[in-house]
Amino acid sequence: MKIRDVRAMLLTAPIPAERQYTSDLGTIQAASAAIVVVETDEGLVGYGEAKGTPQVMRGIVEHELKPLLLGEDPTRVEYLWEKMYTGSRLGLSLYYGRSMAVSTATGELMCAISGVDVALWDLTGKALGVPIFKLMGGDVRTRVRAYASGGHGRLGEIGDQFLGYVEQGFHACKMRVGGKDHPNMVAGSAARVKEAREAVGPDVEIMLDAHGSTGVTAAIKLARAVEEHDVAWYEEPVIHHDLQGLAEVRRATTVPVATGENLYTRFAFRDLALARAADVWQPDTAMAGGLTEMRRIAALASAFEFRFAPHVWGSAFLWAASLQLAAALPNYSIFEFGQPYSPLLYELVTTPVKVEPDGYVEIPQGPGLGVEIVPDAERRFAFDPHTAERKSLL
Ligand SMILES: [Mg+2]
Repeated sequence: MKIRDVRAMLLTAPIPAERQYTSDLGTIQAASAAIVVVETDEGLVGYGEAKGTPQVMRGIVEHELKPLLLGEDPTRVEYLWEKMYTGSRLGLSLYYGRSMAVSTATGELMCAISGVDVALWDLTGKALGVPIFKLMGGDVRTRVRAYASGGHGRLGEIGDQFLGYVEQGFHACKMRVGGKDHPNMVAGSAARVKEAREAVGPDVEIMLDAHGSTGVTAAIKLARAVEEHDVAWYEEPVIHHDLQGLAEVRRATTVPVATGENLYTRFAFRDLALARAADVWQPDTAMAGGLTEMRRIAALASAFEFRFAPHVWGSAFLWAASLQLAAALPNYSIFEFGQPYSPLLYELVTTPVKVEPDGYVEIPQGPGLGVEIVPDAERRFAFDPHTAERKSLL
């Protein structure tokens, strides 16, 4: 079996006004995605999300990565990962046993590699007729505990919003804080956390996410202010590249600190480990290097005894890839389930995207990723560069 074609399928789905939500990142008016599609000479097709800017993903996938992949056996996933990551120094890297990354192997290139990597795993599973978790050593669980990720409600709304998540079955809920409560980041966020805790009672895990907006001083103030509300983690209290600042926050509070959705490759997580900056690691399968790199990052987290709780915020293909990882990895602790409505999560595959009444998500058991794309996806979610990244400015 050989790779015959590699392309990026770009999708856009406007979100109806009544289902849009607002955070410090703006009001999200449309969802967009770049899905890598790898086709073989035997007619099999693999899919994987690449979570960079869609047009940039198309450029990298079709002009830089495709020439490295055409004619190759798609089941040689580790080999092809190394080839994409080291480029012309593949031979040197394999000879010395040390990855000599191409100079651009960060950011957008890693997003593109992630999409290809997941598509190769999907193809390998489909070729062998088994789910990806079987290729990774078999399943340690058939379903995974999930948390509701949303909590954009204002003061006076957040309690009811969290109760809505609990009614769906969730026993853990995440809310946005910090920049969301501008210009009253500390007291405003603390008041919303108090409202959320009083609404759901003591038995529901509450997580906070500041999208890197609070900064060290305000983050420490907010963390200390919410310690009494038993917060499970405080995510990205400071901007993602400030590992020392993050470590300062971690040392100043008993609230566990989380980060990782903006970090790429195991090397960034090595630095995070050495800085002892976060209790909870949240790499994203569609950004950090695909399933291949996620397994390496998970092993690092396990060795350092940090909690592994990947970031899952994108299309149904990221959702499905993350579930395969949750099935295979013993230290995958909890599954992120985005609550704001996105057509590319709920309507892109024929498999139901849902939480069970006890707060768990079932792992799809079909070959590869275990999901099937809807037949008219490219027409139904036709890419529109003018709405693809449409967010209101603050
Ligand atoms: Mg986050």
